[in-house]
Amino acid sequence: MIGIGIVGAAGRMGRAIAAELSGRDDARVTATAERGGDLDALARGANVLIDFSSPDALPAVLDAARGAAVPVVIGTTGLSAAEHEAIDAAAREIAVLQAANMSLGVNLLAALVREAAARLGPGWDIEIAEMHHRHKVDAPSGTALLLGEAAAAGRGITLAGHSERGRDGIGETRAEGAIGFASLRGGSVAGDHLVVLAGEGERIELGHRAESRAIFARGAVQAALWLHGKAPGRYSMNDVLGL
Ligand code: NAD
Repeated sequence: MIGIGIVGAAGRMGRAIAAELSGRDDARVTATAERGGDLDALARGANVLIDFSSPDALPAVLDAARGAAVPVVIGTTGLSAAEHEAIDAAAREIAVLQAANMSLGVNLLAALVREAAARLGPGWDIEIAEMHHRHKVDAPSGTALLLGEAAAAGRGITLAGHSERGRDGIGETRAEGAIGFASLRGGSVAGDHLVVLAGEGERIELGHRAESRAIFARGAVQAALWLHGKAPGRYSMNDVLGL
């Protein structure tokens, strides 16, 4: 029985992970933490940490995991380049799995997008649209960026150099080879993503709809079980899912 410590336990995902764990016999919640909680104590009492909170929690979460030498699954999105570097640094000492989306479907979709972008070439325009619930704080979603990275990798370009976000006004025609993003917010949507590859006279649409947060919670628990006992390093859901 693997003991899981949840960071961000009172949030939408924290509650979904606790619900997932309550129905399993291979892992259980040992402790939970919220903003202001004792992360060192949480880490000492757990075999693996799962963090779905906010980017500002990341330094303390990584320090606590290192201090207790426990692996950590990071599902929080909206991470900066400096925060990704902090994950890389921690991964030299402990096993860290960071994924902007924990679902099998989205990670498979990313592989399909990469393949499509590689085969179709730069004459096809790529646009990524996403919709999430009204409370989401980061835009574009971490999953939209994950899909954008997959498209860029397929094309052999960097997303940072080709991303187009937030078009508004006159003179906003897309640059050749750009990967565009559009974000919709409203209601209780768990997460919809659509990747459009638009050529002259035809278009391909590859999409995913999350019907509930349970898919992310299940993936996060699967990732935690997989990560337990792994050597230090940075891992992704592709490693867990064998994609
Ligand atoms: P939420 O706002 O409902 O919950 C976040 C919780 O974290 C809150 O209870 C908040 O009090 C707590 N928190 C914030 N800062 C903290 C800190 N410093 N220390 C401890 N706790 C802290 O948000 P949510 O919808 O549950 O999403 C949480 C994160 O997970 C977001 O970044 C979201 O984009 C991401 N997310 C990732 C996936 C995935 O599959 N990787 C799926 C869904 C959501």
